[in-house]
Amino acid sequence: MNIILFGPPGAGKGTQAEKLVAERGMVQLSTGNMLRAAIAAETPLGLEAKEIIDAGELVPDTVMIQMIDEAMDSDTVAKGVILDGFPRTLAQAEALDDMLAGRGLALDNVIEIKVDEAVLFGRIESRAEQTGGSRSDDNAEVLQQRLKVYHDNTAPLLPYYREKQILKQVDGMQQIEAVSRQINEVLDS
Ligand code: AMP
Repeated sequence: MNIILFGPPGAGKGTQAEKLVAERGMVQLSTGNMLRAAIAAETPLGLEAKEIIDAGELVPDTVMIQMIDEAMDSDTVAKGVILDGFPRTLAQAEALDDMLAGRGLALDNVIEIKVDEAVLFGRIESRAEQTGGSRSDDNAEVLQQRLKVYHDNTAPLLPYYREKQILKQVDGMQQIEAVSRQINEVLDS
């Protein structure tokens, strides 16, 4: 099974992806985590990406598409992938369809974790506290821009997936365990 966890920054995509990895043996492909690893390793890509991430903007589509394409090796796709933070643009979504089709696969579910925007600032603040500020983009100012980019570039993917009849929604305002139960219900239905 191949799924996308969809939602704005702070919706809980990473948390829920990690639970699915533990419970179902699927593989999480988080482009944000991959980029942060490149930054930590100080690769040329990491150095370029850091400025973009710190400004709350998007890393170019070609870079992101190649990153996911390379990550989808045969072992990974055999386990089923959870895409977390990808796709974020229509070009990425279309490239993903091609990548999966080229491997004889398809997307099973796109799960939108719905949250009220007002809570995101509080969540990002507590994540910054929990992670000791290790994410330089976890602050109110950059979040404002990340939300703008989400509305302008990423939210338009919702109708794209609704039309394909694979868009499902869960209530992300609930406790982590309750959100997880809803996601599992979607995956088992
Ligand atoms: P995330 O951890 O998913 O919130 O991603 C952190 C940051 O990495 C984003 O704000 C973007 O700057 C960058 N990023 C992550 N995934 C993508 C993507 N699919 N396309 C473009 N930029 C991305």
